[in-house]
Amino acid sequence: MRFTLLGSGAVRVDMDHWGPAQVVEVNGEALLFDCGRGASMRLTQAGFSLLDIKRAFLTHLHYDHTCDFPYLFLTSWVMGRDVPMEVVGPRGTQAFCDGLFKEAYREDILTRRGHSSYTPQGCEYDVCEVTDDEVCIEGPGYVIRIVHVQHKSHILDNLAFRIEANGRSIVVVGDTTVCDALLELATGADLLVHECSFPSAILERENWGAFHTDPRELGRWARERGVKKLLLKHFCLRPGVVELEPMVVEVREEFGSAGLIVGEDLMSLEV
Ligand SMILES: [Zn+2]
Ligand SMILES: [Zn+2]
Repeated sequence: MRFTLLGSGAVRVDMDHWGPAQVVEVNGEALLFDCGRGASMRLTQAGFSLLDIKRAFLTHLHYDHTCDFPYLFLTSWVMGRDVPMEVVGPRGTQAFCDGLFKEAYREDILTRRGHSSYTPQGCEYDVCEVTDDEVCIEGPGYVIRIVHVQHKSHILDNLAFRIEANGRSIVVVGDTTVCDALLELATGADLLVHECSFPSAILERENWGAFHTDPRELGRWARERGVKKLLLKHFCLRPGVVELEPMVVEVREEFGSAGLIVGEDLMSLEV
């Protein structure tokens, strides 16, 4: 498997850290996980065609993780995608897609439908909402285990994914706090791709701090659970207020340096 981080940032505009998105290449498929700010641009920079994305997975429906999805979906249709896009996501994903493509962009789609080179199938989508506690999805030569994790909100459902192929495993998490389902899912992972949003001092001070994982806690549990490589992402940087290095130091104090990777946009690694 090959993992590519498309964006290492989060909500704010940051030209060095684009929005949450990543790709896992496995047995000839390119699986997209989240589709935040600029994901389509980063996909292209990373050497993918937008047509390569036929299966998209959404961790949760916060806009920083989904705002590029309508662009990706519609542009790949215009570029020639001739099969429906499969969208696997949390509760609310069907309404999210219907709201975009049956309401917000309905008239846009109607005007383009007459274009002879745009196929009817390309602007269709098949949604799989994950409602059971745990679900397994299979593809050629791979299995994806999906569980619900806690983004500390009773409103938003939120997923984490474990992709397994050829005896190797990659766990992709969106935004989360520490919870049993995640600990179990990530145990022994060859690569855990996890948020590192703020240093602990800010998480403790702000009332939204409970929505994210304390970097020290992440480092500790990842080490205890035998994670081999830990890749950090979702940096909510603000120059002079939130800097990268203090968070990394906190993770490193618990996890150690071996296997710790500070995510960078367009970084790619073989797993
Ligand atoms: Zn986020
Ligand atoms: Zn979020």
